[in-house]
Amino acid sequence: MTRFSLKKLLGRGGKAAPTIPSDLNITIRRQHRRSLMMRPIPGGFEVYIPRWMRPDNPTVTTFIAKSLDKFGNQAPPIPPTLTTREEITAMVNHWAAQMGLQPKRISFRDMTRKWGSCSSRDNITLSTRLTWVEPHLAEYVVVHELVHLRVFNHGKDFKDMMSQYMPDWKTREQTLHAIRF
Ligand SMILES: [Zn+2]
Repeated sequence: MTRFSLKKLLGRGGKAAPTIPSDLNITIRRQHRRSLMMRPIPGGFEVYIPRWMRPDNPTVTTFIAKSLDKFGNQAPPIPPTLTTREEITAMVNHWAAQMGLQPKRISFRDMTRKWGSCSSRDNITLSTRLTWVEPHLAEYVVVHELVHLRVFNHGKDFKDMMSQYMPDWKTREQTLHAIRF
Protein backbone atom coordinates (compact mmCIF):
# COMPACT_ATOMS: atom_id res chain seq x y z
CA MET A 1 0.00 0.00 0.00
CA THR A 2 1.50 3.31 -1.08
CA ARG A 3 0.90 6.28 1.15
CA PHE A 4 0.92 9.90 0.21
CA SER A 5 0.75 12.82 2.55
CA LEU A 6 -1.45 15.61 1.26
CA LYS A 7 0.89 18.13 2.87
CA LYS A 8 3.83 16.74 0.90
CA LEU A 9 1.84 16.78 -2.32
CA LEU A 10 0.95 20.42 -1.71
CA GLY A 11 4.59 21.10 -0.97
CA ARG A 12 5.48 19.68 -4.37
CA GLY A 13 3.22 22.25 -5.99
CA GLY A 14 0.09 20.15 -6.24
CA LYS A 15 -3.10 22.15 -6.53
CA ALA A 16 -5.44 21.60 -3.62
CA ALA A 17 -8.78 23.20 -3.00
CA PRO A 18 -8.16 26.26 -0.78
CA THR A 19 -10.81 25.03 1.65
CA ILE A 20 -8.55 22.24 2.98
CA PRO A 21 -6.97 23.39 6.26
CA SER A 22 -3.22 22.84 5.99
CA ASP A 23 -2.81 21.77 9.63
CA LEU A 24 -4.88 18.62 9.11
CA ASN A 25 -2.92 15.41 8.78
CA ILE A 26 -4.36 13.78 5.66
CA THR A 27 -2.91 10.57 4.26
CA ILE A 28 -3.88 9.30 0.83
CA ARG A 29 -3.68 5.57 0.20
CA ARG A 30 -4.03 3.84 -3.15
CA GLN A 31 -6.14 0.72 -2.95
CA HIS A 32 -7.81 -1.82 -5.14
CA ARG A 33 -11.16 -0.03 -5.15
CA ARG A 34 -13.49 1.88 -7.46
CA SER A 35 -14.69 4.82 -5.43
CA LEU A 36 -13.07 7.34 -3.12
CA MET A 37 -13.46 7.02 0.62
CA MET A 38 -12.32 9.11 3.55
CA ARG A 39 -12.34 8.17 7.21
CA PRO A 40 -11.37 10.03 10.35
CA ILE A 41 -8.41 8.66 12.29
CA PRO A 42 -6.84 10.07 15.48
CA GLY A 43 -5.26 13.39 14.56
CA GLY A 44 -6.28 13.33 10.91
CA PHE A 45 -7.95 11.56 8.05
CA GLU A 46 -7.19 8.72 5.69
CA VAL A 47 -8.32 8.91 2.09
CA TYR A 48 -8.57 5.78 -0.04
CA ILE A 49 -8.42 6.16 -3.80
CA PRO A 50 -8.37 3.70 -6.72
CA ARG A 51 -4.92 2.44 -7.66
CA TRP A 52 -5.03 4.02 -11.11
CA MET A 53 -5.78 7.47 -9.77
CA ARG A 54 -3.00 9.93 -9.07
CA PRO A 55 -3.16 11.38 -5.56
CA ASP A 56 -2.77 14.91 -6.93
CA ASN A 57 -5.74 14.42 -9.25
CA PRO A 58 -8.16 17.36 -8.72
CA THR A 59 -10.96 14.84 -8.15
CA VAL A 60 -9.13 13.75 -5.01
CA THR A 61 -8.72 17.25 -3.58
CA THR A 62 -12.33 18.14 -4.36
CA PHE A 63 -13.46 14.94 -2.69
CA ILE A 64 -11.33 15.70 0.38
CA ALA A 65 -12.70 19.24 0.68
CA LYS A 66 -16.28 17.98 0.44
CA SER A 67 -15.72 15.19 2.95
CA LEU A 68 -14.02 17.56 5.37
CA ASP A 69 -17.11 19.73 5.25
CA LYS A 70 -19.11 16.71 6.32
CA PHE A 71 -16.76 16.03 9.24
CA GLY A 72 -16.79 19.68 10.28
CA ASN A 73 -13.11 20.17 9.38
CA GLN A 74 -12.23 18.47 12.65
CA ALA A 75 -10.09 15.39 13.14
CA PRO A 76 -10.62 13.09 16.14
CA PRO A 77 -8.19 13.83 18.98
CA ILE A 78 -5.00 11.80 19.36
CA PRO A 79 -5.44 9.40 22.32
CA PRO A 80 -3.12 9.81 25.32
CA THR A 81 0.04 7.71 25.49
CA LEU A 82 -0.52 4.80 27.89
CA THR A 83 2.62 2.86 27.00
CA THR A 84 5.76 4.42 25.55
CA ARG A 85 7.78 2.99 22.66
CA GLU A 86 10.68 2.54 25.06
CA GLU A 87 8.48 0.45 27.35
CA ILE A 88 7.31 -1.67 24.42
CA THR A 89 10.87 -2.17 23.18
CA ALA A 90 11.87 -3.22 26.70
CA MET A 91 9.01 -5.75 26.64
CA VAL A 92 10.31 -7.19 23.36
CA ASN A 93 13.79 -7.59 24.83
CA HIS A 94 12.44 -9.06 28.06
CA TRP A 95 10.20 -11.62 26.34
CA ALA A 96 12.71 -12.50 23.64
CA ALA A 97 15.17 -13.42 26.41
CA GLN A 98 12.49 -15.41 28.26
CA MET A 99 11.68 -17.34 25.10
CA GLY A 100 15.25 -17.74 23.94
CA LEU A 101 14.58 -15.78 20.76
CA GLN A 102 16.58 -13.12 19.03
CA PRO A 103 14.53 -10.88 16.74
CA LYS A 104 16.79 -9.17 14.19
CA ARG A 105 15.02 -5.87 14.02
CA ILE A 106 12.20 -4.20 15.95
CA SER A 107 10.55 -1.26 14.25
CA PHE A 108 7.47 0.87 14.73
CA ARG A 109 5.20 1.87 11.89
CA ASP A 110 1.85 3.62 11.68
CA MET A 111 -0.18 0.54 10.89
CA THR A 112 -3.91 1.07 11.05
CA ARG A 113 -5.18 -2.44 10.43
CA LYS A 114 -2.73 -4.54 12.37
CA TRP A 115 -1.16 -4.17 15.82
CA GLY A 116 1.95 -5.96 14.75
CA SER A 117 3.52 -8.19 12.15
CA CYS A 118 6.60 -10.29 11.70
CA SER A 119 8.57 -11.36 8.69
CA SER A 120 10.15 -14.70 7.96
CA ARG A 121 13.48 -12.94 8.43
CA ASP A 122 12.85 -12.44 12.14
CA ASN A 123 11.92 -8.78 11.87
CA ILE A 124 9.13 -7.54 14.08
CA THR A 125 7.06 -4.51 13.17
CA LEU A 126 4.75 -2.97 15.74
CA SER A 127 2.03 -0.40 15.24
CA THR A 128 2.77 3.02 16.74
CA ARG A 129 -0.85 2.84 17.93
CA LEU A 130 0.23 0.37 20.59
CA THR A 131 1.34 3.43 22.56
CA TRP A 132 -2.38 4.22 22.95
CA VAL A 133 -3.24 0.96 24.72
CA GLU A 134 -2.47 -0.21 28.24
CA PRO A 135 0.87 -1.97 28.85
CA HIS A 136 -0.63 -5.44 29.39
CA LEU A 137 -2.35 -5.22 25.98
CA ALA A 138 0.80 -4.04 24.21
CA GLU A 139 2.60 -6.89 25.93
CA TYR A 140 0.14 -9.37 24.43
CA VAL A 141 1.02 -8.15 20.91
CA VAL A 142 4.74 -8.39 21.72
CA VAL A 143 4.42 -12.01 22.86
CA HIS A 144 2.11 -12.83 19.91
CA GLU A 145 4.66 -11.59 17.37
CA LEU A 146 7.56 -13.29 19.15
CA VAL A 147 5.69 -16.60 19.13
CA HIS A 148 5.33 -16.14 15.37
CA LEU A 149 9.11 -16.32 15.07
CA ARG A 150 8.64 -19.98 16.01
CA VAL A 151 5.17 -20.74 14.69
CA PHE A 152 3.95 -18.96 11.55
CA ASN A 153 0.23 -19.73 11.83
CA HIS A 154 -2.37 -19.43 14.58
CA GLY A 155 -2.84 -23.18 15.00
CA LYS A 156 -2.52 -25.45 18.02
CA ASP A 157 1.23 -25.02 18.43
CA PHE A 158 0.78 -21.26 18.43
CA LYS A 159 -1.98 -21.39 21.05
CA ASP A 160 -0.02 -23.79 23.24
CA MET A 161 3.04 -21.55 23.18
CA MET A 162 0.95 -18.46 23.92
CA SER A 163 -0.64 -20.20 26.92
CA GLN A 164 2.75 -21.34 28.12
CA TYR A 165 4.13 -17.79 28.31
CA MET A 166 0.95 -15.78 28.85
CA PRO A 167 -1.83 -17.86 30.41
CA ASP A 168 -4.42 -15.04 30.10
CA TRP A 169 -3.58 -14.18 26.48
CA LYS A 170 -7.12 -14.84 25.23
CA THR A 171 -8.63 -12.24 27.54
CA ARG A 172 -6.03 -9.70 26.49
CA GLU A 173 -6.65 -10.51 22.83
CA GLN A 174 -10.41 -10.01 23.22
CA THR A 175 -9.94 -6.67 24.97
CA LEU A 176 -7.56 -5.52 22.28
CA HIS A 177 -9.84 -6.60 19.44
CA ALA A 178 -12.62 -4.45 20.87
CA ILE A 179 -10.43 -1.34 20.63
CA ARG A 180 -10.86 0.79 17.51
CA PHE A 181 -9.03 4.01 16.89
ZN1 LIG B 1 -0.64 -13.49 14.39
